[in-house]
Amino acid sequence: MDEKARPFLRRRSSTTTIILVLVLAGVRGATAAALGAVLDEHEASCEVRPASDVTLSSAPSAAYRSPLDPPLPLSPALGARRVAVVLISLADADVRWTAEQARSIVFTGPRSARAYFEEVSQGRATLQGVLDPEGGDVFGPYVLPVPVADAGCFVDDLTDDALERAAADGLVADDYDTIGFVHAFMPGCASGTATFPPKRGKVWFNGILFTGLVVHEIGHNLGLDHAGAVSLCGARPRTPCVEDGYGDLFDPMGLSNERRFSAWRLYQLGWLSPDEVQVVHHGGVYELQPSALVGGRAPRLILVRSRLFESRFGSFAQWYALETRVATGPFDTFRPGDPVVRGVSIRRVGAGGYSELLDPTPETGVADAPLLPGRTLHDRAYKVRFRTLSVVDGVARVRIKADCRR
Ligand SMILES: [Zn+2]
Repeated sequence: MDEKARPFLRRRSSTTTIILVLVLAGVRGATAAALGAVLDEHEASCEVRPASDVTLSSAPSAAYRSPLDPPLPLSPALGARRVAVVLISLADADVRWTAEQARSIVFTGPRSARAYFEEVSQGRATLQGVLDPEGGDVFGPYVLPVPVADAGCFVDDLTDDALERAAADGLVADDYDTIGFVHAFMPGCASGTATFPPKRGKVWFNGILFTGLVVHEIGHNLGLDHAGAVSLCGARPRTPCVEDGYGDLFDPMGLSNERRFSAWRLYQLGWLSPDEVQVVHHGGVYELQPSALVGGRAPRLILVRSRLFESRFGSFAQWYALETRVATGPFDTFRPGDPVVRGVSIRRVGAGGYSELLDPTPETGVADAPLLPGRTLHDRAYKVRFRTLSVVDGVARVRIKADCRR
């Protein structure tokens, strides 16, 4: 699921890490006390330093407030997103999907992309057509007189040709937030491609179409970066450090699966209310309820700030997003014994939108990355320790500690 026009976010650099200190807080609770916190003096004294203690290498910009502030969410993705689907066959290869099949996958099926957005946003967002809001707008298939060998992976010319054909059937491109092109399979090309951003975007599907892929590519239109997985370098010296830019099995911005968005994505998309997010600056014990659960006593997302570090760009902190999951609805069809519903998923996140699921046991794959009760995850790079104490009736208790050693 490679993307166009988004090479600048592939990997964090020290520069992009610093970007996270240039954003403004958007959630309540930046000074929230822990629920049932057991704040210990040793942790407090080493972990949190006033911003005045740090030295910046240059004057803060107007946007700079403090590295104590969490990354901002994106512009909220609320209401109906107007989507058109255009089917394209080539001179020597037919698109595999009929209009009715595409309509079912994107708009009308019980596990459609529309059903996904409505379910996961809890009614805050949906997909619809313009000409047929309920049934969805699907155009084509149109046969373009170009053989596969001459089509190439960058389908801009074909896109324009197909839009001309669809215009004769009533498509007005400016009326849509996303236009998706499902074309005949082109060997060697990415299965999905998206513009990233703007919000009004295009997505392309290379001979394949399923709900997770549609959600993934529209997610890029909305500004979401990929969901990777990373083992903790140095945590097990003899284990190679493993990073996979798509490795998060529990977020569709990872391997294009059809799991619900992680709590970090819900936050980015404006689908969490402020009182469902807790921002943590101090070590202690915190409670967390499943990210899909509305109305409980604990937050659905905890954002944790590491201690401050110095760099030549100024001071910065690493942020973490903590969530726990529960089996629910048509998408999070977990089994009771799955680690993701028995533990706490911990991701490094940042203002650039990146998300890295931390996997303390890379030798056994990513499925058991969530931290089970009694297990500790130590991110030596940023001197933070997490320990899941319990998960009872879906509510997790997790201890967060700063590592005071230099
Ligand atoms: Zn992608």
